[in-house]
This record gives sequence, structure tokens and C-alpha cells, in this order.
Amino acid sequence: VLRLITDFDGPVMDVSERYYRVYRHCLERLSDPNGPPLRVLSKAEFWDYKRAQVPERKIGQISGLDEARSLEFARLRRETVHTLPYLIHDAPVPGAVAALDRVQALGWDLVVMTMRRVRELDDAFNRCDLGRFFPATSRYCLADDYVKTRDVDDKPRLMARAIGELPPAAATWMVGDTEADIAAARAGGIPIIGVLSGIRDRDRLAAHQPDAIVDNLEAAIEFILARMAVGEGLPQTATSPV
Ligand SMILES: [Mg+2]
Repeated sequence: VLRLITDFDGPVMDVSERYYRVYRHCLERLSDPNGPPLRVLSKAEFWDYKRAQVPERKIGQISGLDEARSLEFARLRRETVHTLPYLIHDAPVPGAVAALDRVQALGWDLVVMTMRRVRELDDAFNRCDLGRFFPATSRYCLADDYVKTRDVDDKPRLMARAIGELPPAAATWMVGDTEADIAAARAGGIPIIGVLSGIRDRDRLAAHQPDAIVDNLEAAIEFILARMAVGEGLPQTATSPV
């Protein structure tokens, strides 16, 4: 059986509306009535900066905050972005549910691997009816009390756990939208397809050299099917230049 390990935010969920609302909220909280006027970014501008991996502090400065307020903005943003009042703004990426249906129809073993905490993942699963794709033993996420370090370190740890627990598969592929996914896949010796439907643009993804870069989860499935058709798909044969 073929196993597909998918990241959640990016390939499946679109978090841009949540992130943008948190940006607006934090900017308003940090605005200084006596300071220079703010330049509130449009959602498209904001999301382009996020996809280019511009740090929050810098986004605060671009929006007109001074250095001290930008730091506070980044801190407030960090403690706000994963809270429930904002999580409700997440929605499935267009086409993602159909892609998950397709994976099921193909009979592939589908696993989710995400830096979300259990409660954050459950919220999306319940609200968007996505839990049906992932049985309990196919969910790799963080415990509610997990102390995060950096995604590029935490995600390989999740991968190590998954490799220790999941039954063997004939071939495994991973799909993700950030360098953390690429790091996790590398650590597990699994080929990784980067998707552009998430929080990194093509340049940022390419810098980390995934095995392929495609538009979205559906295109990733097509890519895997094409590789299988030519007899590839095993991790050690699945590398190709981007
Ligand atoms: Mg992601």
C-alpha cells in the first residue's frame, strides 16, 4: 500500500484569513495615536510577505510601527494566532476536500502530520468535517501542553514517532508547504512534494530543494501517480531536480 503523509495547514487548510485578521488586530492594539500613521497592508500584500517568509517584526515595521512596537506586535501576534476566536476563520483550500476523497478512493494510507495541537486540529476536523479522512492512529500532531521549539526541529520529531509507530508501506510520500515539512521528510528518508497553496512562495520552497513543487494537493497526487506509472515511487528512487 502507498502511504501519503500530508501536512495540514497549507495542503489542506487555508490559514490566510486567520493570519490576516490577527495581523489587523495586533496592529490596532499596537498603534500609537501620537505616532506616525500606520500603513495597513491589504490581505494580498500581507500574504505575499508571509509567503516570502518576511519576519513578523519586519511586517510590523513595514506597517508603520517603530522598532519597540514591532517587537511587541510580534509577541502579541505569537500568543494570539493559535487561539480559538481566530481559528474559526480557517477554511479548506479550494479542491483539497476533493483531493482527499481521491486519496481515499485510490486506497492509499492517508496520514496527517501537523504542528497543530490536538485541540486546534480537532477544531478544524469537526468544523470542516475533515476528521473522517484521518482515523485516530493516522493523526500526528502536538499534545495540548507540548512546549514548541522551532517547527524545523519539532516536525522531524513527529516524523520519528510516526516512523516508529506506523506499519510498513510499499512506498511513502509526503506533501507539505514549508521548510519544516521538507526537514521532516528528509529526516525520515521520505520524498517530499512542496505545494504552493500554503505559506511559502516558490522561491522559499525551492531554497530547501523538495523533490517537486506543485500547485496544490491535487497536483501532488497527480505527480505521485505519474511516478508510479513509470515504476518509481520508492523513496530511494523518487528524487528529481526541482
Ligand atoms: Mg503547513
